[in-house]
Amino acid sequence: CSCGAVERERTLAMIKPDGLSGNYTEKIKTAILDSGFHIVKETQVQLDAERASLFYAEHSGRNFFDCLVKYITSGPVLAMVLERTDAVAQWRALIGPTDARKAKTSHPNSIRAMCGLDSEKNCVHGSDSLESAAREISFFFGEADSETVEHDEL
Ligand code: ADP
Ligand code: MG
Repeated sequence: CSCGAVERERTLAMIKPDGLSGNYTEKIKTAILDSGFHIVKETQVQLDAERASLFYAEHSGRNFFDCLVKYITSGPVLAMVLERTDAVAQWRALIGPTDARKAKTSHPNSIRAMCGLDSEKNCVHGSDSLESAAREISFFFGEADSETVEHDEL
């Protein structure tokens, strides 16, 4: 950008099954908008084990992988494309550390502190880099999806 405007960035946010079943969606969306993100689009989907394993492929060798796949397929997830300046880092900061128990003491205002339970059931996902964001956004939104809700640009 040559005009001097601050460049906006996109990241992938996901409300996990415990976040949806615990009725935290509105609370989480309010935190998102209050923090200056624009929700560009969203889609609610039920992942199957194959799709979930693909999404979390980087963790396929970990001892918690089978539990993670079971957890993330236990109900629908709400995937959202968020946009603002420094979106990847800002969304990670807003959700807090992976272990929601630790978040409650170290980052009490984070989303995982508010809505999460432990190191697995932590209610939300956030891309960890620009590269992950690009991959994860195309994972959910790459192909035309009739259920996708597109929000107007502000
Ligand atoms: P993050 O979601 O903070 O980027 P990771 O990428 O390390 O964390 O892990 C992906 C997801 O796997 C976590 O959000 C959590 O749901 C689950 N997870 C991570 N570590 C553990 C663990 N030690 N035991 C159980 N589940 C875990
Ligand atoms: Mg991660």
